[in-house]
Amino acid sequence: MLLSPNLDPMGQAIWDYASTGHAGTLRVLSSMFDDDEIPVATLFRTELQMPPLERMALNLCRGHVLDVGAGAGCHSLALQDRDIEVCSIDISPLSTRARTLRGVRDARCTDFWGQELDGMRFDTIVLLMNGLGIAGTLDRLPSLLNRCKALLAPGGRVLADSSDLRYVFEDEDGNFDWDPAEGYYGEVDYQMVYKQCKGQPFDWLYVDFDTLLRTAQQCGLVARKVADGEHYDYLAELKAL
Ligand code: SAH
Repeated sequence: MLLSPNLDPMGQAIWDYASTGHAGTLRVLSSMFDDDEIPVATLFRTELQMPPLERMALNLCRGHVLDVGAGAGCHSLALQDRDIEVCSIDISPLSTRARTLRGVRDARCTDFWGQELDGMRFDTIVLLMNGLGIAGTLDRLPSLLNRCKALLAPGGRVLADSSDLRYVFEDEDGNFDWDPAEGYYGEVDYQMVYKQCKGQPFDWLYVDFDTLLRTAQQCGLVARKVADGEHYDYLAELKAL
């Protein structure tokens, strides 16, 4: 489903920054964490400003790339600079307008699960900045992975980063303080706020690598950890079996 501009705080912030060079504060609320903010400029990071895992992902991109949840388009632009063809999708009409303004050639306002991509095949699919999060919950991860599989050309690969949130629930002695009856510990709820605009709350999934590996196997994909990041995060590569 596409976002309506009046319920799209991140899209509004991205559009402000892309069109005027500055933006207000993009706040992130969650029932699980303290209020936080996303510095809007980080959504406009250049390749040099990207964390090492993202730069590694860019280096592994081949052929026709699908950038899922492309936001302001930082990865799409870095790939275009390498003469790589990118289909850059996001459910936000405002961020899509910003990507077009910034020079992303194939910027589409499209849902990853939408019909528009049916029948297309990509050599690489990137889901970056905790991109597996768009699954929302662990029980929807197979749907995301199966969708990736259907969109992969023969020999193609998925590159995605995520984090193991286990550290959030560990006490000083390293004991894991989480009740499994409450579901999987990496399922987070977020709500974004920008100026007068409050978005709908949404689910976001952080998945540890072992759980990703097992879920991928069930979907006929092999997962490989490319590298660990600096803070419980990692980059994974998934290929069809
Ligand atoms: N990849 C970008 C932006 C990450 S924010 C970066 O690294 O800077 C996540 C983005 O995913 C948001 O822009 C959101 O609108 C988009 N998104 C969420 N669900 C989506 C879906 N089902 N299909 C496509 N994009 C989606």
